[in-house]
Amino acid sequence: MRILFEAREDEFLSSLAMKSRHSQGRRYPEDPAPTRTCFQRDRDRVIHSKAFRRLKRKTQVFIASESDHYRTRLTHTLEVAQIARHLSRSLFLNEDLAETIALAHDLGHTPFGHSGERALHDIMKNEGGFEHNRQSLHIVDSLEKKYPFFDGLNLSAEVRHGLLKHQKNINAFNEPYIITLESQVANLADEFAYHTHDIDDGITSNILSIDALKSVQLYKECYLNIKTKYSSLSDQELKTLIQSDLLTLFITNTIQTTQEIILNNTLQTHTDIYKFSSPIVTVDSELREKINELKGFLFKHLYKHPTVSEMNEKGMTIIRGLFTYFSTSPEKLPSRFQPSSTNQRSLNRNITDYIAGMTDTFAQEEYKTLVSSSLT
Ligand code: MG
Repeated sequence: MRILFEAREDEFLSSLAMKSRHSQGRRYPEDPAPTRTCFQRDRDRVIHSKAFRRLKRKTQVFIASESDHYRTRLTHTLEVAQIARHLSRSLFLNEDLAETIALAHDLGHTPFGHSGERALHDIMKNEGGFEHNRQSLHIVDSLEKKYPFFDGLNLSAEVRHGLLKHQKNINAFNEPYIITLESQVANLADEFAYHTHDIDDGITSNILSIDALKSVQLYKECYLNIKTKYSSLSDQELKTLIQSDLLTLFITNTIQTTQEIILNNTLQTHTDIYKFSSPIVTVDSELREKINELKGFLFKHLYKHPTVSEMNEKGMTIIRGLFTYFSTSPEKLPSRFQPSSTNQRSLNRNITDYIAGMTDTFAQEEYKTLVSSSLT
């Protein structure tokens, strides 16, 4: 069965796609799976991991318990995977690889979104800092414990490299950096997903409005596009259709732009991909400019809004409080996070790993039980 899947990849995929039988393999050699390619197997390992299940209780932008319809890290991740598969399929790239990178890309996120990441980074800034992409790799390489013969999920090299996104030069590998178009797809899919769903959640929360968003060129174009197609729409219908139009625009522009780049530069082999200095899977410069305007708007009116900032502050307080608590009472750490030596550096890294893995709800409960109770 696997051989058939591999043969199908040879037959259907672009010469620029990462074929599973050309994978550079796993850190700990394993026999190939009889019914799955290596990337299909990796995808299944990610979905069955504990870190993946914890994504359901981690914040994307809004605290999930406040509305059933806000994105969580899990639903964000599923949207990224859906977009990544769509783009890969349309570009004749390896869907399984792009999907796996997408499903694993946010495993390293802390509770309370980027504010949690900032708090941990500040605490650890003199000891290597904290960065969620690097943490995603650390989880799949070491922290997940499932198999008797190795730590981590032992994923294929192309998936592991795909998790480090923007950090080409990061010193995390002892092997040459692997660039695949599938990792570029997953990276862009992440961006498309959060732009569109943050608008949606922003409107749901009443922080943003369709009227205010119309000051952004890109949003206005989609708004007018929908308005000319449908004469009367409720606000809810309008919001949903604009969002869908925006995502379609992102995807169609990417497919066209990428095909043009490949054609105009006669990109045919993996060596061509390595020689190309900028991303190959991308949007055109006109759309990039408009996306930048949208980003600026969201930053100012959503991510920096007092309601969102207040939630972020609360999250940071919880993380700082937990860190201080475990530094002074390391014996309260679960046994698997107990440091093997008395070295403060390794203790701090273990506390970081433990806190970063927490869900919002677990961190809140731990803070209530361990920290607030000792303050009263
Ligand atoms: Mg993401």
